[in-house]
Amino acid sequence: MFEMAKELLRQLFKKPATNEFPAKHAPKSVLKLLEKVSKGKARLNPPIPVPEKFRGKIDYDRNKCIGCKLCIKVCPAAAVVFQEKERKIKYICSRCTFCAQCVDVCPVNALTLSNEFLIADYKRD
Ligand code: SF4
Ligand code: SF4
Repeated sequence: MFEMAKELLRQLFKKPATNEFPAKHAPKSVLKLLEKVSKGKARLNPPIPVPEKFRGKIDYDRNKCIGCKLCIKVCPAAAVVFQEKERKIKYICSRCTFCAQCVDVCPVNALTLSNEFLIADYKRD
């Protein structure tokens, strides 16, 4: 019983292990509502810095891409598809495993790992 009470007290004053949702990423509707209900006094959390070498959503620079298809060859998840008409690629984030093989193989650095971690969406592609 004493051990349990000790643990309870310890947890009560311990810093939370999780971070609050950063304001930068909150939907505009939520931010507007927050400001309205708090009359501009809402505490908006600043964005949390991601760790060094974080593997977020892939950024694709269409202008740099030469359509060599190397990224398609190395992608283990079929997350890159070729668009014949434009001779450019399409990145499908919902399939991506963030292995970064496409980033490493691209000869013109058209693909980079970003810091973007909020990738939930209504559409799979
Ligand atoms: S990071 Fe890996 S899984 Fe994602 S698109 Fe590139 S090669 Fe495919
Ligand atoms: S490897 Fe780079 S240049 Fe080649 S198709 Fe993929 S993104 Fe384009």
